[in-house]
Amino acid sequence: MENWETYVRKVVPYVPGEQPCGEQVIKLNTNENPYPPAPGVLRALRESDGGKLRLYPEPDCGTLVRAIAAYHGLRDDQVFAGVGSDDVLAMIFLTFFNAEKPILFPDITYSFYEVWADMLRIPYQTRVLDAAFQIRAEDYYGENGGVIFPNPNAPTGLLMPVGQIREIAEHNRDVIVVVDEAYIDFGGESALPLLGEYENLLVVRTFSKSRSLAGMRIGYACGAPKLIRYLNDVKYSFNSYTLNQTALALGVESLRDEAYFRETIAKITATREWTGVELAKLGFLFGESKSNFIFARHKSVAAEEIFRALRKEHIYVRHFSGERIRNYLRISIGTQEEMETLTGFLGRYLGQL
Ligand code: PMP
Repeated sequence: MENWETYVRKVVPYVPGEQPCGEQVIKLNTNENPYPPAPGVLRALRESDGGKLRLYPEPDCGTLVRAIAAYHGLRDDQVFAGVGSDDVLAMIFLTFFNAEKPILFPDITYSFYEVWADMLRIPYQTRVLDAAFQIRAEDYYGENGGVIFPNPNAPTGLLMPVGQIREIAEHNRDVIVVVDEAYIDFGGESALPLLGEYENLLVVRTFSKSRSLAGMRIGYACGAPKLIRYLNDVKYSFNSYTLNQTALALGVESLRDEAYFRETIAKITATREWTGVELAKLGFLFGESKSNFIFARHKSVAAEEIFRALRKEHIYVRHFSGERIRNYLRISIGTQEEMETLTGFLGRYLGQL
């Protein structure tokens, strides 16, 4: 018998990393920034006028869009803002991936892509990363309904050179190509300069990682004005008021302090390199990360075992169950002190096995 349940849009949801409560945790499981946002952001937060909360925020996110455009040397009509890049990406899937042909993304990548495709009934095919977990550009040259990949890729942390992104864009001029640059600030070369050449390209960014604002939920896409217009049409058909007033104001403040931004990134990348050396000494194997995490397996001990041992110590890292990656751990880069605690514990733990 049919009942309402037959017609439910049934989905297998994305599983976000745990957000454990309590101060005693070393949290290296969701690629958050271990440092606070810029001082100007904190000041603006303290001084924000609560009385204004009775008003709706700007529907076009204008102040933030203009600040982002100026920051990247783009026109205002080349920027679309959303509630974290997850919101921006969901809007992109909804707006542009609407063909009968499958969209393409890597087999090992941000697991949300598959969830949006399933939820929105977008056909998709995955392309297998090579043995070193690199994306092969030529896998994306055939006919398709659109292409999306992160650069650096997640959870591998590996970077694709911009030349290869250009090749992918060049071979896909009739569909939308999306480069998800959530982690690009940690050492990658951005595809933003390609926007002048390719009107079918979208570059997606977030304030969650390099700008320490995961809790504020600010993301954006950059692309040709026509693409941004189509995105806004869908957004206004879904929810006109996306970013809240505080997020808009704090996003602008964050962009003002380039020195703090650079300094924080320099600390994280230095700690990443230090952690890599230590993990290698302990028998971990991994590729060259250009992100704020390291995706590593141990030469002899199973990832799940290490994961559980760390957990007992209140050190949280991320473990995925996918077939090719279940023996890997994704370890976010915390403060130098946190990483010393991690490697110190791993040294003792692996030494006594
Ligand atoms: N893209 C990738 C590749 C990510 O890893 C993440 C973080 N989970 C996001 C997008 C979304 O980040 P946010 O919504 O915080 O901007």
